[in-house]
Amino acid sequence: MDGDVILACQNRDDHVTRAFRVSSKVLRLASPVFAGMFRPQFEEGNLLLQKECPVVELKEDDASIMSVILEILHFRCDIEDDNTDSETLARLAIHCDKYDLSKSLGPWVAFWFGKAKSVVTSTNDLGRQLLAAYTFNVSKEFKAISETALKTVSPGFEDDWETQELLASLPVNIKDAMSLRIKRTLDVLETEVQKVEATLRLSLRSYETSQRTCTVCGRTHPEQAKRCHRCKSSDLPLNYCGRDTRIAEYFAILRKAELWPTLQPFGNCSISDIMFRILCAQTDVNHACSAGQSCPLFVNLAKLTDKARRVEKKIRGFCLLCIREDYEWDESKRCTHLYD
Ligand SMILES: [Zn+2]
Ligand SMILES: [Zn+2]
Ligand SMILES: [Zn+2]
Repeated sequence: MDGDVILACQNRDDHVTRAFRVSSKVLRLASPVFAGMFRPQFEEGNLLLQKECPVVELKEDDASIMSVILEILHFRCDIEDDNTDSETLARLAIHCDKYDLSKSLGPWVAFWFGKAKSVVTSTNDLGRQLLAAYTFNVSKEFKAISETALKTVSPGFEDDWETQELLASLPVNIKDAMSLRIKRTLDVLETEVQKVEATLRLSLRSYETSQRTCTVCGRTHPEQAKRCHRCKSSDLPLNYCGRDTRIAEYFAILRKAELWPTLQPFGNCSISDIMFRILCAQTDVNHACSAGQSCPLFVNLAKLTDKARRVEKKIRGFCLLCIREDYEWDESKRCTHLYD
């Protein structure tokens, strides 16, 4: 395919101007925007009639992104070489949207998302992927990426994203919807953590433990000890695992797992961070009493983990059609869109 036009644009990063010899026919077929541009009544179309291989400057376009697009349209892109990170993906989406190329590049879109998925290293990457999915208008990817983002992004992400060129252009209703759902989910998890205290209060039974505490100095000793080796006191009653000691121990466990006081973690941590801390709380318990694993402390910590896991499992990504329909996100709205 011989080129009859030269497109000139600059690399975004080093501002080097690059020229691409392309076929106006190929571009016209691929993109309604190029088709319009090369109509004789427009400047570019007129140039095409007058000069042989005129130069058309595309000042706003990034040459490194345009080169990928033009190579694909001219069947010169080598699929093995393609290295698409989340930033490139978002910029490709914006260029494709500008030139209305989504149809022509359709098969590539899925391929790019597949590649980008393997190089997610930060929540910012997820944000750029989300922007790409929104701009390419691919519902399946949008749902999957937003689901991952809901779990891993921390509250207050909007302020951080606002300061970054690409992420700032993510529509505000997407950010609002995410923010709302993250906050609601964290509230549910916080309530579950707090509810354990009330449940522990209902268990009145006491169990023996295998430890004694010195009433004089407060040191703990093994069950067999007859006398405190520090203060020589023989007043060493056996410790009991009772309602109040279990509640105190529960809060000590929460504090160690950085879940208590709740205000800071549930206001600043991502859902997956909180899930990790709840798991840590359950596995890091140093408690032994005659009830063994049926001690209310173990039982309730296990229940808490189960409930938290169910809450996390229920998190679903957003329907792109619903997002586009409503500028103001309403959490109570049910999606009625059908997907195949
Ligand atoms: Zn003592
Ligand atoms: Zn116990
Ligand atoms: Zn929907």
